[in-house]
Amino acid sequence: MRARAMVVLALLLPASITAVAADDILPWQTDSTEQKPAPAARKQPPAAPAKAPEPKPADAKSNAAAAAAAPAQPSGAKATAATTGADAKPAASKQAPAAPAAAAAATIETSAAPAAPKPAAGAAPDAAKTAAKAPDPVPAKKLFGAAKVAARMTPKAIGTYAKGCLAGGEALPTDGPAWQAMRLSRNRNWAHPVLVAMLERFATEMKDKESWPGLLIGDLSQPRGGPMLTGHKSHQVGLDADIWFKPMPSRTLSKPERETFEPLLLAKDNGSEVIKENWNDGFARLVKRVADYPEVERIFVHPAIKKKFCEVSGPDKAWLAKVRPMWLHNYHFHVRISCPAGSGSCEKQKATTGEDGCGKEVDDWIKLVSRPAKPVTPAPKPTVPVKPPPPAPVLTLEKLPPECRQVLAAAPDGIAPPPPVAIAHKPAAPPPAKPQQKKTAEQ
Ligand SMILES: [Zn+2]
Repeated sequence: MRARAMVVLALLLPASITAVAADDILPWQTDSTEQKPAPAARKQPPAAPAKAPEPKPADAKSNAAAAAAAPAQPSGAKATAATTGADAKPAASKQAPAAPAAAAAATIETSAAPAAPKPAAGAAPDAAKTAAKAPDPVPAKKLFGAAKVAARMTPKAIGTYAKGCLAGGEALPTDGPAWQAMRLSRNRNWAHPVLVAMLERFATEMKDKESWPGLLIGDLSQPRGGPMLTGHKSHQVGLDADIWFKPMPSRTLSKPERETFEPLLLAKDNGSEVIKENWNDGFARLVKRVADYPEVERIFVHPAIKKKFCEVSGPDKAWLAKVRPMWLHNYHFHVRISCPAGSGSCEKQKATTGEDGCGKEVDDWIKLVSRPAKPVTPAPKPTVPVKPPPPAPVLTLEKLPPECRQVLAAAPDGIAPPPPVAIAHKPAAPPPAKPQQKKTAEQ
């Protein structure tokens, strides 16, 4: 059901947006467990925006006090899940949706290995047996999701942000002088040492120079990076970090509290403007400081937040070139750093344009996230049986850079990689009959 909904959504969106799927997560890829405050507080993803109008906050004051102090504590607005983001332009292209992007979306959502395909009617019994025997490919997320500690190797980000792994990961301490890590049960406070150092510096500088109470830090990566069982499409190479907008409380949160603590929601998923009672211009200082670090390449925020940054930032808007609008980043901002030195197989992302994106670009994004959902009309019942779509391809270890096998297997507590799927799936017999052999459903 969900998979079907995702495909429908992918088809409804312009190709320029569906193309984002190749790089990062989109609303229909959101996993319900990503950084959610508590199950009761969940809402639907923005792909099916609520009809309710934006709240019209009566309180339009706030901005003056903001520049001086850290933001106020939350007003109780509930946050929804958010995901990682990637760079993409929301230009309202009328092109037909790209089928591969829809397939990519489905790939990420695959939560279990697909069943072996059923043989077509009339297929030879041998072929049926072969299909039944073929082992299910092991999703790479199951392998990397099982790693409890980092691979003892020279630190290295390997592959792309959304298809890679991490050697020599370092854990961000769960508590520091100016930060607390959240959702500890996920074991995602691991990153490349360059990112860990940057986060520590950022938190302490905000505290010392901006009187910020401290940072609440969400997901970084798994101990060995790689795809995750839930949430995030990126965060795979130890170079991505989610940081909550909500300032750190003055007390140390207990472990259970860190699982359920409510974030501060700055915009509704489909909101065209920030939630005024939760807003403080201090958020612009927070994001500007990290944007000014040379190693930071991109920062993803909800389009309404980007728009607000544009409004409050004054004439210096250069830093906003790194601040990219992206779905759902409405209670946290996602900081992405560039490939560090010594990570030769880390694939660079395309550079940003250097434009601040404060005009048409952010306006287009806002139109996109705030537009009402199109009603999905059910397809007419087919009169003849329709062949079901093939199962979504599984992101296996073979699809990650080859070095990720070593990362997975490395001490301590390495995980033995499964045999390559391509070999396991090859039927044992018969020599190809040429030239009439046709492709069959099994292929
Ligand atoms: Zn993220």
